[in-house]
Amino acid sequence: MAIISDDSGLEKRVKKNPVIKPETIEYDNTFENTIRPKDFESYIGQTSLKETLKIILEAAKRRNKPLDHMLFYGPPGLGKTTIAGVIASQMGVEIKITSAPALERPRDIIGILMSLKGGEILFIDEIHRLNKVAEEILYPAMEDFTLDMTTGKTQTAKTLRIPLPKFTLIGATTKAGELSSPLRDRFGMIHRLEFYTVEELAKVVERTAKILEIDITPDGARAIGMRSRGTPRIANRLVKRVSDFAIVKYDGKIDERVANESLDILKIDEFGLDNTDRALLNLIIEKYDGGPVGVETIAAALSEDVRTIEDVCEPYLLQAGLLQRTPRGRKVSPEGYRHLGKKMPSMQTRLFGEED
Ligand code: ADP
Repeated sequence: MAIISDDSGLEKRVKKNPVIKPETIEYDNTFENTIRPKDFESYIGQTSLKETLKIILEAAKRRNKPLDHMLFYGPPGLGKTTIAGVIASQMGVEIKITSAPALERPRDIIGILMSLKGGEILFIDEIHRLNKVAEEILYPAMEDFTLDMTTGKTQTAKTLRIPLPKFTLIGATTKAGELSSPLRDRFGMIHRLEFYTVEELAKVVERTAKILEIDITPDGARAIGMRSRGTPRIANRLVKRVSDFAIVKYDGKIDERVANESLDILKIDEFGLDNTDRALLNLIIEKYDGGPVGVETIAAALSEDVRTIEDVCEPYLLQAGLLQRTPRGRKVSPEGYRHLGKKMPSMQTRLFGEED
């Protein structure tokens, strides 16, 4: 099985048509696999999503019908893939996981659709990156459970309608706005995943620590949760990094002091910002008087690609109120200046309505 989720979650290398049993979503990234929640109880937070899903799942079971197609969106690492696995497991069906960049040729999507069995779930990650041809194959598949295939040359062309089993498509994207409206309209449920609270992240950290047999105090878990940018994937990564420090530099146990000192050494600040985030804010402040400045300019100056800036860095900076998005570009907020210990230029201060 070859599904690798890197740290940013942006690039997933996916083997075609992996069949995944509900109880064992297999990822060759064993760390992610061991700690990935498999049921609603261990899936922390996202309460309204879980409540809605429980009802939808129960109704589908009672009607003996497959689930409606669902779209989950939000920044990487918030649990879109994980919730799809939980749904499959709760429904007792298999889930086939792929991602849009792996569906380049028509035969890729046709192959995976034809391999589905009734009730199964097809998960397409980064669904906003589907090409037009693949999208058009999906429309009748999603709506009428048919594959419309054209055979022959233009004048003698015939359309064959091949019935497909009733399946459920779960799409995930960091950019719901980039989905074409005909595709978006075919999802019966669209849900945005929220950033997690510090308490929820502390629970994620405690759960992961328990699975990995890492000794941690509640304060230690909270300290890591506070610096995890609202994101479980980051919380999981940090607990492992801090545990390395705890073993090498301390007595192996993570308490609040060990967590904070280790995270300081890792240059993750009390807001969870890392060097790239701070470089982004500093760049706007120092080179562009606090902004506004276009995302392309920021990306070029930081030698990052625009997608990484937009999908990985910005959502949290915006949510934390450190950055603002305006029609003319990105601007550092008064809170952003304060966080970096910088003084706002007086013109900006007046625009933001702050005292000098
Ligand atoms: P996405 O698909 O949104 O990029 P994933 O579903 O791959 O994110 O989640 C990233 C990691 O974070 C997973 O390995 C999982 O262990 C953890 N995770 C995500 N959501 C939760 C949650 N609600 N509770 C506990 N752990 C979670």
